[in-house]
Amino acid sequence: MTTSQIDTLASVEAFLARTHASFIDGQQRQPRTGAHQDLFNPATNRVISRVQQADAHQVELIVQSAQQAFKSGIWSGLAPAQRERILLRFADLVEAHGEELAQLETLNQGKSIHLARAVEVGASLNYMRYMAGWATKIEGQTLDVSIPVPAGARFNAYTRREAAGVIAGIVPWNFPLMIALWKVMPALACGNTIIIKPADETPLTALRLAELAIEAGVPAGVFNVLIGKGSEAGAALVAHPKVNKVSFTGSTAVGKQVGVAALHNMTRFTLELGGKNPMLVLADADIDKAVAGAIGGGLLNQGQVCAAASRLYVHASRHKDFVEALTAQVSALKIGAGMDPDAQINALVSRKQQDSVLRYLDIARREGAQFTTGGGKPDLPGYFVQPTVLSNLQQHMTSVQEEIFGPVLSVLPFDDVEQALDMLNDSRYGLTASIWSNDLGRVMDLIPRIEAGTVWVNNHVPVDPNLPFGGYKQSGIGREFGRAAIEGFTETKSVCITY
Ligand code: NAD
Repeated sequence: MTTSQIDTLASVEAFLARTHASFIDGQQRQPRTGAHQDLFNPATNRVISRVQQADAHQVELIVQSAQQAFKSGIWSGLAPAQRERILLRFADLVEAHGEELAQLETLNQGKSIHLARAVEVGASLNYMRYMAGWATKIEGQTLDVSIPVPAGARFNAYTRREAAGVIAGIVPWNFPLMIALWKVMPALACGNTIIIKPADETPLTALRLAELAIEAGVPAGVFNVLIGKGSEAGAALVAHPKVNKVSFTGSTAVGKQVGVAALHNMTRFTLELGGKNPMLVLADADIDKAVAGAIGGGLLNQGQVCAAASRLYVHASRHKDFVEALTAQVSALKIGAGMDPDAQINALVSRKQQDSVLRYLDIARREGAQFTTGGGKPDLPGYFVQPTVLSNLQQHMTSVQEEIFGPVLSVLPFDDVEQALDMLNDSRYGLTASIWSNDLGRVMDLIPRIEAGTVWVNNHVPVDPNLPFGGYKQSGIGREFGRAAIEGFTETKSVCITY
């Protein structure tokens, strides 16, 4: 356990002292009737700020504002290079305010300040600049056609990619700033307007981003933020007939409801959902690297990562060494607040999430798992759970099948690769997987046989703006990032001209 803390910036204190509300048409607007909601610091269980939830009138208002901004052409009508320049200025402002944004995220979400700086801000900046560049690179195709009538007629046919319109971006609480930007940037690069619905627990950085976007020159009404409960404001937004596309990231259970609601209006949607991601450690693997990969890929953000390694299949000949090394390193991790630069394991986002992870640990205990380290909560006021390694498991057990979304690593041995492959693919999820081996031939044989949207080799968890990201099976529908994001935030129009 560690206790030192970095100093909170004065700008962060000032932002937290405000009572925030939905960001509509260029500014925060108080609802007529919306309820107040306290926001907590997960490391202390103390209230750090508060928001007013949107009422039904505000949901209507925010959609109208986004629709008017879209139809006016104030954004979609700009030359692509103008949009690109404004989005790059937005990235510069996020960089200039990086420490402020990182601290806000750590205080509201619980994650390590190092992770907030490096990933929420640092990785997001790469993503922002990459996506800003797409504004000037959106293209269609010219196509030869063979239409026989009228005889002798000549045709010219081509496709255009056009902005889809009003986008609803629904964001989870695990990476609130980064995932908001995953939606805002491609949506705006394509000329759309967007309404971000942050998770109930973590709305602060999205609100700050909206202010910075205005400062960068994004016109009012183009980037809005809806504050409110997912089951109320979020559900009303997704079901709104004037929303043209829903980009949802969150749990599989809610994603199914969102997909059904969107389908009702034929609203386009992509779903980026949960995962129960395997690591496959072959007999020849470098065990030190694989253990480091399991800790980095499995315990990052306290395991609250959709792509996190959480099922670790290790060849029987290396299983004992692997479990011993993993246990020694995991049990030495220092637990403390995200604002403590020495802490390696931080609080989970909420009391609800802490309770949920502890419940999974109880189930594992009842099902006969062996806890080689961890298994409970430390004596701290916040929402902490000890990092935990489980062994003596079987494939059907809950800790092998269900997404725990906490600092829990489940390790299983396997004897031959075919058996391991069956276990890997025996999951309703298919988001990511990693293979640990230097046997190139074997690795290349395995890659196409793994049911996952991303396969990593000798690493687990890096994502890149240029690599499509999304899931097989119940991990989602559609892909985001790269060209896939541009396709997802535009409609294709075919044009056929007779001349
Ligand atoms: P969640 O599904 O509970 O909530 C996600 C968002 O949906 C929140 O903003 C919430 O307020 C909103 N919401 C809830 N009910 C809604 C409804 N009926 N209609 C519209 N919106 C609604 O997820 P969470 O607990 O915030 O996040 C954790 C989950 O997200 C995990 O399952 C994780 O794997 C997944 N996730 C997936 C990815 C990915 O890219 N595949 C990335 C991060 C997180």
